[in-house]
Amino acid sequence: MSLEKIILASSNKGKIREFNELFQNFEIEIIPQNNLSVPDAVEDGLSFIENAILKARNACAYTSRPSIADDSGLEVDALNGAPGIYSARFSENEDGQRMGDEANNLKLLSMLDGVDFSLRGAQFVCALAFMRFAKDPSPVVCIARWRGVILKEPRGDGGFGYDPLFYLPDHNCTSAELPKELKNQLSHRGQALNLLLSQMKDLGLIGD
Ligand code: IMP
Repeated sequence: MSLEKIILASSNKGKIREFNELFQNFEIEIIPQNNLSVPDAVEDGLSFIENAILKARNACAYTSRPSIADDSGLEVDALNGAPGIYSARFSENEDGQRMGDEANNLKLLSMLDGVDFSLRGAQFVCALAFMRFAKDPSPVVCIARWRGVILKEPRGDGGFGYDPLFYLPDHNCTSAELPKELKNQLSHRGQALNLLLSQMKDLGLIGD
C-alpha cells in the first residue's frame, strides 16, 4: 500500500503540526479531517484505544483514505483512573457544556483534597490508531504512559490541560514548566508517536 496522504482525525493545530513534522521524512502529507468536512466521531468507547479506533474508523469512512487518530487523558491512581477518557469534559455545567482546563484542574484538586503527596501518583496516557480503511480488521494501535504526581497547587504557564498540576520528580518541575521540545520528547504523545512510527516501519507501511 502506498501512503502519500494520511487523514488525521483531529483539528488541533499543535497535533497537525506534530504529525506533519514526523511524517514529512517519509514524504507523507497529513491532512486534517476538517479540510474534508468530516464530522466528529461519536466517542462512546470505554477506553483510550477504543476511542482512537472509533475516530480513525470515522475518518476512513468519510474520506476512503488511510487515517490516524489519537485519544489521550490523565489517570489518577487515587481516583481509580479518573478522569481518564473523560479528561477534557471532567468539569461540565448543568447543560453538559465543558467548563475548560481551569475548572477541570480545580475539580481534580478538590477531589484530591487531603490526599498525601505519596498517594498522588498519576499518568498521562495516549493511544494512537492507524487504519487503512474503515473495515480494517487489524488497526495499528499503540499506547504510551507518562508518570508524574499531582501537585496541591498549579505551577507554570506552558502546555495545556492538566500540565500545571503534573509534577515530574526527575525534572523537579511540572509539565507546564518544561521547555516545549523536551515535553514533546518525553510525553505520552511523543512516546506513542515513536511507537507508531516503528510499528508502521515494521509492517512495511512506511520506509526505514
Ligand atoms: P486530547 O485527547 O488531546 O483531546 O486530550 C484530552 C484531554 O486530556 C485534554 O483536554 C486534557 O485535559 C488532557 N490531556 C491530554 N494530554 C495532555 C497533556 O499533554 N497535558 C495536559 N493535559 C492533557
